[in-house]
Amino acid sequence: MLKITPYLGPLVVIVSIAGLWYPMLGYFMLLVMGTLFISSIFRGRWFCGNLCPRGSYFDYGIIKISKKRKIPKVLSSMWVRIPVFSLMMAFMLYRISVTIAAQNTIELIGMIFVSICLVTTVIGTMLGSYFNTRSWCNFCPMGTMQRIIGGNKYQLKMDHESCVDCKLCEKVCPMELEVRDIGNKPDCIKCGRCIDICPKDSLKF
Ligand code: SF4
Ligand code: SF4
Ligand code: SF4
Repeated sequence: MLKITPYLGPLVVIVSIAGLWYPMLGYFMLLVMGTLFISSIFRGRWFCGNLCPRGSYFDYGIIKISKKRKIPKVLSSMWVRIPVFSLMMAFMLYRISVTIAAQNTIELIGMIFVSICLVTTVIGTMLGSYFNTRSWCNFCPMGTMQRIIGGNKYQLKMDHESCVDCKLCEKVCPMELEVRDIGNKPDCIKCGRCIDICPKDSLKF
């Protein structure tokens, strides 16, 4: 996690709410998408655990009201993720294509991004308050895209010799991953919480 990670959350609230009056704020989403696309090539879902404003909003804002119930496994299944990804992309491209001929195209496209940001933040807030904070991140289209591009990059490594099976790493994992299992974890968001809490220094990237 970076030093700025805890302070990024307000950005998603600003874009979602102030964007309704200032649609140009919606273009911030393009910056986010471009950055996560590039970082995923080298580090998989690193962006999600370090630079995503909405991830920070969940971890440091929604955590205060979250019931912290277990996230339903079905949400991270590809049977949910691929349709959500496809629907979101199709909706965005369709809205942009019918807007291009209109007047004030730039502002209207900005508003499309704002509305997507607002709707997904509301869904993420509801799920994060009822289940655990990162529920939305289990099937977020941008998370799925990063997983597809670089899910096998920058993997967590574990020294099984020194591990004492205390399971602290799994308790703190915001994605509720089975950290001690051998094998790739394409949905690891590289937040480093498991590394920080491990009493035996058994984990590293
Ligand atoms: S899964 Fe989506 S909302 Fe969650 S941190 Fe990643 S990009 Fe942000
Ligand atoms: S496995 Fe570790 S680094 Fe990956 S998401 Fe879980 S706590 Fe974060
Ligand atoms: S926190 Fe460290 S020692 Fe404990 S189970 Fe996880 S890897 Fe093993």
